[in-house]
Amino acid sequence: MELWYTEKHTNTVNFSIQVKRHFYSESSPFQQIDFFESKEFGTFFTLDGLMMVNEKDEFVYHDMITHVPMATHPDIKRVLVIGGGDGGTVRELTRYKHIEKIDMVEIDEMVVRACQKYLPITANQLTDPRVTLYFEDGLKFIQGKVAEYDLILVDSTDPIGPGEGLFSMAFYTDCFKALTETGILINQHESPYYPNYAREMKRSHDKIKKIFPISKVYQFHMPTYPSGHWLFGFASKSLDPIKDFKKEKWEAFGLETKYYNTDLHTGCFALPTFVKKLLEE
Ligand code: SAM
Repeated sequence: MELWYTEKHTNTVNFSIQVKRHFYSESSPFQQIDFFESKEFGTFFTLDGLMMVNEKDEFVYHDMITHVPMATHPDIKRVLVIGGGDGGTVRELTRYKHIEKIDMVEIDEMVVRACQKYLPITANQLTDPRVTLYFEDGLKFIQGKVAEYDLILVDSTDPIGPGEGLFSMAFYTDCFKALTETGILINQHESPYYPNYAREMKRSHDKIKKIFPISKVYQFHMPTYPSGHWLFGFASKSLDPIKDFKKEKWEAFGLETKYYNTDLHTGCFALPTFVKKLLEE
């Protein structure tokens, strides 16, 4: 008998992956966690019935959340990751030998422990000595911090459940205060394609624009996320991702990447007309 994982993307669109087995299913105090094994995407896990990370396309998301800010400001030394329990974002950060400190604040320890066991492809650098794990709410963790980080990466779930507050004005204001003068904030911007996701993207972007003098949006394609068309927000007190792009300096790091490259760095900020209109409305 065939076994399928099915996820609802809109009220009239479902997305399905044939799976070999559904081998983990636990409820944490925060969310429902499930792990599956599939032919096409390898091992993947979902939170509250939504795809988080799979072995096949995780490189796209983790390259784009990490290397775009690192190539804009290659001297980043202190980083805060909020969410990111699978460890993929931390794994990419640890490839920069000059980064001194990586704090990761994940609300749900069960996600981290399960990923360390079943998804080592992303979780394998969480034991790097520069990494400190905090199991608490990112919203509370950031309150009262002043100029402590050069980079904040919000690698969160969607704005429902525990991730909801990570899309609020109060949270973005706290991020602004926690960043140094050349600091950068990257956050989940959802998808521009289906109206239910585009609404959230627009709400989030409008809030960030009010707080940060530089606020841009960049795109990438994630085959397993709704519509496959996904966005991150880039916000900074003083650095522009195109004008301040340090192409040669980043290339000198000699990092091999599967999705990100320096042509794509400028290309990903060129948005389709319908996305530009949405952002300008
Ligand atoms: N790449 C994924 C995506 O966009 O689908 C996100 C990956 S990561 C697994 C998201 C993590 O954010 C989850 O493990 C969740 O527990 C964590 N999270 C949600 N709300 C949080 C909060 N308020 N503070 C810290 N972590 C949070």
